[in-house]
Amino acid sequence: MNTPLIVGNWKMNGGLETNQRLLDDVRAGCSGLGRCDVAVCAPFVYLGQLQTLLTGSSVAVGAQDVSAHEGGAYTGEVSAAMLREFAIRYVIVGHSERRQHHGESDSVVASKARQALAVGITPIVCVGETLQEREAGRTEEVVRRQLAAVIHVNGHCISEIVLAYEPVWAIGTGRTAAAEQAQQVHAVLRAQLRAASAHSDRVRIVYGGSMNATNAAGLLAQPDIDGGLIGGASLKAADFLAIVAAGVGRASALR
Ligand code: PEP
Repeated sequence: MNTPLIVGNWKMNGGLETNQRLLDDVRAGCSGLGRCDVAVCAPFVYLGQLQTLLTGSSVAVGAQDVSAHEGGAYTGEVSAAMLREFAIRYVIVGHSERRQHHGESDSVVASKARQALAVGITPIVCVGETLQEREAGRTEEVVRRQLAAVIHVNGHCISEIVLAYEPVWAIGTGRTAAAEQAQQVHAVLRAQLRAASAHSDRVRIVYGGSMNATNAAGLLAQPDIDGGLIGGASLKAADFLAIVAAGVGRASALR
């Protein structure tokens, strides 16, 4: 079984003072943790602060985006090599908010994953269907297409990614996919990864979409749900740590 992975996505939230309080609590709550990997993905400007405050802890630092380009005349962009300098371990690519508000295509997302992999940062590749697509019975087709683009560009390295299934209709809405509903899609994605690489069983497929302290254990009891990508609930230490505890519980139950 893969070590569970719980990742906080702060989105465009935070401030130097509130970050410090939150990180102190998360760091303390994760010390001496059982078998569960934990990371926090913060806005670019706070990555230096996270690097300082989390050094020597079991909590890894992640970013929320990376440029699809290696470097050069791309004003406002941040390259994977720059992230590497801040000891960034993970970077989210293809979050639905970026696909929706910044027009990121499947191929741009695949290039971002490639840039991250090239410098040894693990991309957390997000896939997921909109409500309209689910209601039209297109969930499988959509997530398979999104993942296929990443496999196409990163073929031999695909076993190095983390995959996040995030149904768009569940993100920030308080509406979570039922555990069995999420498991069904995770199983489809697992099969697609297996067909692409003999080493893909090491890829962690995490669920994101209104995961919280109450529903985390049920989701993490599913065979193919290896962890969570947590938005709103990652901004409160107690809620985030309760989800981390559910991750530890998964590791103990499946040992
Ligand atoms: C996310 O931002 O990836 C996310 C899953 O958000 P929330 O947990 O708030 O739905």
